Amino acid sequence: MAVFECEQCGKCCVSLGPLITIERQLNDRDYYCRCKIDNAIFPVHVDPAYREEIADEFAAAGLDRNSMDKKPCTFQRKNPDDDGTTCAIYTSRPAVCRDFRCYRMLIRNKEGAILGRVIGKNTIRTEDAALKKLWDEQAAAIPYGNPAVWIKNVAGILAEHGFCADPVE
Ligand code: SF4
Ligand code: SF4
Repeated sequence: MAVFECEQCGKCCVSLGPLITIERQLNDRDYYCRCKIDNAIFPVHVDPAYREEIADEFAAAGLDRNSMDKKPCTFQRKNPDDDGTTCAIYTSRPAVCRDFRCYRMLIRNKEGAILGRVIGKNTIRTEDAALKKLWDEQAAAIPYGNPAVWIKNVAGILAEHGFCADPVE
């Protein structure tokens, strides 16, 4: 079984939309927030690199807190190290973000190198032309009714062609 590893690319944060609202500020780093999905209140600790800009935005928003919800997420911030984004509360992000898995299976070659990822129900993301062809022509058509049976059948097809299925825990 593969261990899911989040690369903090931020793509799921964009697609999920504004889920997190700030309920109360404790100091310039700590807040109480609410998650709109389960309505849970949770404490967050802002990464020191983003403490000032988030505290400034919070102060500028005043009573108009909704103005901080316009981005995909209040805590999604530009990553200074590349062109992407990062989560400013990664270590204290809510359960809904912590539990999210953007892929459900890794596909490896015999040497263990990762050649592809299965996302959603049965969509593959891969640069390997042979794996893509195999998936589209055989694996994608396997009925998904029972996840354990689906994994077994997919793993069988992949193994016949020299690939290894590695489901995420
Ligand atoms: S869960 Fe996946 S899509 Fe979301 S930030 Fe992590 S790697 Fe990116
Ligand atoms: S709290 Fe972090 S992980 Fe969750 S949606 Fe916002 S930026 Fe993404």
